[in-house]
Amino acid sequence: MEKAELARRLAEIIGSEYVSGDPDTLFIYSHDMTENEPSEPDLVVMPDSVEEVQSIVRLANEQRIPLTPFVAGANVGGLAIPREGGIVVDLKRMKRILEVNEDNMYVIIEPGVTFGHLRACLDNEHPRFRYAYPLSPPYTSVMCNALLDGLTNLSTKHGDMSEWINSLEVVLPTGEVVNIGAAAASKYWFGRAPLPDLAGLFISWQGTTGIVTKMAVQICPKYKYRKRMFVMAYDIDSFFAFVRRCAWTQLYDDIAGFSWPAAKMMVARRVKLTRDPDEPELGAYLDFSGDTKKEMEFKEAMVRDIIKELKDKGIELEPPLLVDDLVKINPDYLKLAEFPTTLDFLIDYGGGGFTWVGSYGPMSKSEEGTKKLFAVMEKYGFPPFLVTRPMKGAHYQVLRFIAPFDKSDQEQVKKVRELCREMAESLLDLGFIPYKAPPWAAELILKRADPNWVKLLKTIKNTLDPNRIMNPGKWGL
Ligand SMILES: Cc1cc2nc3c(=O)[nH]c(=O)nc-3n(C[C@H](O)[C@H](O)[C@H](O)COP(=O)(O)OP(=O)(O)OC[C@H]3O[C@@H](n4cnc5c(N)ncnc54)[C@H](O)[C@@H]3O)c2cc1C
Repeated sequence: MEKAELARRLAEIIGSEYVSGDPDTLFIYSHDMTENEPSEPDLVVMPDSVEEVQSIVRLANEQRIPLTPFVAGANVGGLAIPREGGIVVDLKRMKRILEVNEDNMYVIIEPGVTFGHLRACLDNEHPRFRYAYPLSPPYTSVMCNALLDGLTNLSTKHGDMSEWINSLEVVLPTGEVVNIGAAAASKYWFGRAPLPDLAGLFISWQGTTGIVTKMAVQICPKYKYRKRMFVMAYDIDSFFAFVRRCAWTQLYDDIAGFSWPAAKMMVARRVKLTRDPDEPELGAYLDFSGDTKKEMEFKEAMVRDIIKELKDKGIELEPPLLVDDLVKINPDYLKLAEFPTTLDFLIDYGGGGFTWVGSYGPMSKSEEGTKKLFAVMEKYGFPPFLVTRPMKGAHYQVLRFIAPFDKSDQEQVKKVRELCREMAESLLDLGFIPYKAPPWAAELILKRADPNWVKLLKTIKNTLDPNRIMNPGKWGL
């Protein structure tokens, strides 16, 4: 179908003001902040209802036109770049919080609901409840984060965010709408058990199996008190000994770690980064909450006891600092006091380019993985930037290595591509699996994966999306 005719048919569905083929608009959707290859869509549409999404999908399916769902495009993996052109379906207008069910502790949201929206809604209208927040900017989508197996400041306790999904409404690639989870058989979207769990057909599939139009996600009680504490460690082994010991108490909401370049970038901005050997190599921040002062005092005292216990074993750690005290010393630390937050110092650091290789894997390999990957980063001339946390009560670990870079410098872009590939290969060697896998990383995973798993993946894709219109090029599909 000619582009002009397609635009006309789409305008009939959603109104011409929400269909664009304007080159400036297409350019915006052709790339993201990473090194992944840009690729322009033919058109961008912004539907406002499930019926409109259905009509767009039916038209695209009939005409075999690629569709790429999109909200903020901040996935840091090129996952919303329309690799084969076609139509980008920008879901920002679908930003309603349809229900806040306090008694059953869930909210039903549309794709365009952001962390900023959800936080404001809960804080202002449902102050006894909270959601979990990542380090991603407040304008990114809560739904996308959950669909991508994302991680947040409650992941140490509760695991990745797909575990918070109760139910879904999905427009399949052929245009039918289907309810998944409890929503399939109950008017309460309370969970996924005890039905066969079909949510997995849409989680971590990067929009290749359908467009989710509603999602129920869990919320949890907001306790009266919450504190955030920083503890600095002088080397990798001491850091993980501390983190593991704290995680095994199962007392803390979040135990996240970061390496020295993170702290330096925040305060030093674009200055060349160096570390004095006497300075700490990694820091951890611990979040804890409770309804009574006694509970809080106990959790705080436990951190001090752990530091002492480890010191007796020869492991040197700095005494804990409360974030409120840090902010008094340097207001820049406010960025780390409350989430969601915008880590502008990080996104802007390298000159427009920002990328990472993030992975989930065995806790037992955290030290080895960190040492190996720091050496790889240094070999390529990048500071050893790690963000890490134990997940789901210390059942697995996140290792995420971050590289800001200058996007206008083609040499750096080439270097960052090589760096990411080598980091992903090294992580896979250690048993970690890259998450939110960009197409090149998906290829590496598929090459090593069980061939029958790959076959099943392809069978599912072909069954759900027989004309292969959904976000082609992702997951090698
Ligand atoms: C500085 C920074 C820090 C970050 N920190 C974190 C972090 O701590 N934890 C974390 O998990 N993430 C983090 N992120 C990554 C990311 O921002 C989040 O996971 C975010 O929620 C993605 O939302 P988005 O709106 O950008 O999604 P998009 O990039 O628009 O979409 C993501 C994927 O979902 C698909 N998709 C979009 N809508 C739908 C739909 N309705 N149905 C099906 N598929 C769909 C897209 O095609 C794409 O494949 C960070 C990003 C940045 C820039």
